[in-house]
Amino acid sequence: MIVSGIEGSSFLDYPGMLSCVLFTQGCSYDCFYCHNRALIEYKNGVIGYQEIESFLKKRVGFLQAVVISGGEPTLHGSLPLYFSLAKSLGYLTKLDTNGSRPKVLLELLEAGLLDYVALDVKVPWARYREIAGKGADPANVQRCVSLLQEYQVMHPSFHWEVRTTLAPTLGEADLLEIAGMLPEVNRWVLNFYRTPKDYKKEDGMRINQPALIEREVDCMQERLLLLQPNLKRVR
Ligand code: SF4
Repeated sequence: MIVSGIEGSSFLDYPGMLSCVLFTQGCSYDCFYCHNRALIEYKNGVIGYQEIESFLKKRVGFLQAVVISGGEPTLHGSLPLYFSLAKSLGYLTKLDTNGSRPKVLLELLEAGLLDYVALDVKVPWARYREIAGKGADPANVQRCVSLLQEYQVMHPSFHWEVRTTLAPTLGEADLLEIAGMLPEVNRWVLNFYRTPKDYKKEDGMRINQPALIEREVDCMQERLLLLQPNLKRVR
């Protein structure tokens, strides 16, 4: 696995837990508003397995959880190895994924390597490629939703959430559609948009378009809560 960064401690990435975050290099999507654009392209890894092993061993008893984020972690064949390492040291584990590789998600779930999954659902299914690039297949994300839902029924201590960034071009009708196309989820996190520093020239127009703000979400919140009662807003 190509790990290009570590966040040493965070209270934001695993609800209720102090975690570290390993950032993997490479992504299967090309979202126009990506804040991790430097992670999209494949590059040589800068942090090796042994360094990560030693980092995690030293923090047993201090950190409670290990989050693997990206980029897109499921692109890396050795992902199970890193989750196994975290589990063997007694950590809770969380995967952040864009939902592009349901087969890998299923393997990780079946191996009992995940305690929490955060799945991006970026837009209504019909708009997926417009927002996340040509490589984005919404059928894969839908499959991930079904897998997570089924797995949780069998494993009540397992948690998952859906995350949606309130990117430019995403309006009230889109949010209502997303809320309605998903099963009722434990936690639906709406992230308010921040303009990224790096973006492709051709995306300049839409990057700088206005996105939904708090006051606008206040106005639609009641309707969203009817469909998804576990809505959370993150600045
Ligand atoms: S899925 Fe995430 S990391 Fe990948 S391009 Fe989209 S926003 Fe960036």
